[in-house]
Amino acid sequence: MRLVFLGAPGAGKGTQAAKVVDEFGLVHVATGDLLRAEVAAKSELGVKARAFMDAGRLVPDDLVVSMLTARVAEDDCKSGFLLDGFPRTLPQAEELDRALVDHPVTRSLFFEVSDEQIVGRITGRRTCSECGAAYHVSAHPPKVEGVCDRCGKALIQRQDDREELVKERLAIFRDQTSAVVRYYKDKNMVTTIDADRSVEAISVEVHEILRGLA
Ligand code: AMP
Repeated sequence: MRLVFLGAPGAGKGTQAAKVVDEFGLVHVATGDLLRAEVAAKSELGVKARAFMDAGRLVPDDLVVSMLTARVAEDDCKSGFLLDGFPRTLPQAEELDRALVDHPVTRSLFFEVSDEQIVGRITGRRTCSECGAAYHVSAHPPKVEGVCDRCGKALIQRQDDREELVKERLAIFRDQTSAVVRYYKDKNMVTTIDADRSVEAISVEVHEILRGLA
């Protein structure tokens, strides 16, 4: 299966992805995580991407597309993958189709969430500085405050998860990523999920959908 998870920042794409990748034998490819690793490594791409990310803006298509297409061409992705945070613009979606011409995207799941939910989810989000695991200060706190349950490293608030930048990221979603949702809808490839519900309720539905596709 080759899946695309779509939705505004804070819609829960990453949380739901983490719950299904092992069971369905998929590689979780999150462009935000890949870019943050490049920034941490201070690679040429990371240095270029950093200013855009810190401002809550999208990294230019050419940079993200070449990073992503190289990643999905790796051997471990041959048995299936789940894209989380890509494509975010129409040119990215078109480039993805070109790259996957022999093995196209199987299905896209659109996590639809209201603006009121998003702001609370993102500003309360805390992320492990080491392994990237996600928590929420009230909805999903770690066992020990500020410490990752999984690897014991410090939790941080991502620079772009601060309230000032959330509005910018939402505006970008409305401007650009909604065109991607339309693109897949026009191809009848989208299943829309009400993502205003609890993590567990959404997870039950995602599992059902994926079992139907497997
Ligand atoms: P995320 O972790 O998916 O919220 O992504 C964090 C940041 O990485 C975004 O705000 C963008 O600056 C950048 N980014 C991630 N994926 C993409 C993409 N597909 N296109 C452009 N920028 C991206």
